[in-house]
Amino acid sequence: MFELLDGKTLSIQIKNEIATEVRNLMADGYRTPHLAAVIVGNDGASQTYVANKEKSSHEVGFTSSVYRYPESTSEKDLLEAIEFLNNDPEIDGFIVQLPLPKHINEQHIIDAISPDKDVDGFTAINVGRMVLGEDAFVPATPMGICTLLKRYGIETCGKHCVVIGRSNIVGTPVANLLSRKGFDCTVTLCHSRTKNLAELTRSADILIVAIGKPEFVTAEMVKEGAVVIDVGIHRIPDESRKSGYRIIGDVKHDEVDKLCSWVTPVPGGVGPLTIISLLENTMKAYKKNLNIK
Ligand code: NAD
Repeated sequence: MFELLDGKTLSIQIKNEIATEVRNLMADGYRTPHLAAVIVGNDGASQTYVANKEKSSHEVGFTSSVYRYPESTSEKDLLEAIEFLNNDPEIDGFIVQLPLPKHINEQHIIDAISPDKDVDGFTAINVGRMVLGEDAFVPATPMGICTLLKRYGIETCGKHCVVIGRSNIVGTPVANLLSRKGFDCTVTLCHSRTKNLAELTRSADILIVAIGKPEFVTAEMVKEGAVVIDVGIHRIPDESRKSGYRIIGDVKHDEVDKLCSWVTPVPGGVGPLTIISLLENTMKAYKKNLNIK
């Protein structure tokens, strides 16, 4: 019988912990932590993500501000906005919601973010620090996966962890983090050119799926007793629902779950922990900014 790595419940618990810490700091006379978000254009999914980040910030007592720019904003104007946020001492950390419109070079924008305020952990400096094992802002989704494993006490030392997907925001950093001291997994990183994928995934004690293909991982690809972390999020039409859609992941849960020892549900698994990690990174940036130990 499998057990759920319940990200929703865990996220509520961690939010309460952060909110308590913020309240205690306020009582000591400190100002509130401040997380800002920059959003360019009207992409629906990006609007939802930013709204969720704003809501969660308020729930833990942070100040949150959203800087909205029209789709037609030039790269130069956006770089100026980044510079303003870099220099505002009242803003502890900020994110630039991706994707950006096609005429803006995302890497130029990310590179302009001060590493000390880069709470998404996307700048080259933070990626480099993370890989070197130095103190760094770690990208939110891989950090959330690590939190789930740690808080649920999942044994990782010496385990074979197979990651499917090598994106810069999920697969590559999570593979790095889980191979480090503390987690001590033996990691295999698979991608679109990997041969014999099912053979590799069947040897996984811990299988992390961040591939972006609905229900790609089926029962034949999973070893009995494996821990399965499904990062995928897909909205598919469902007329039986009031909303008209439902959310599914990269794993075919109706056949895979029964093989697992632990599995993340979709929704309610990795997603809520991603936002938590952003709040944790903001808290870290805030303490650094105000020199709070
Ligand atoms: P991406 O598209 O950047 O990367 C997908 C990776 O999968 C690539 O590295 C590619 O090589 C690999 N891949 C594609 N087809 C493959 C195949 N047939 N076999 C093996 N590997 C293959 O995706 P991403 O940004 O890492 O996101 C992955 C999924 O996670 C998406 O569904 C995304 O929506 C979701 N996501 C969720 C969260 C969250 O908070 N839960 C955060 C980020 C991304």
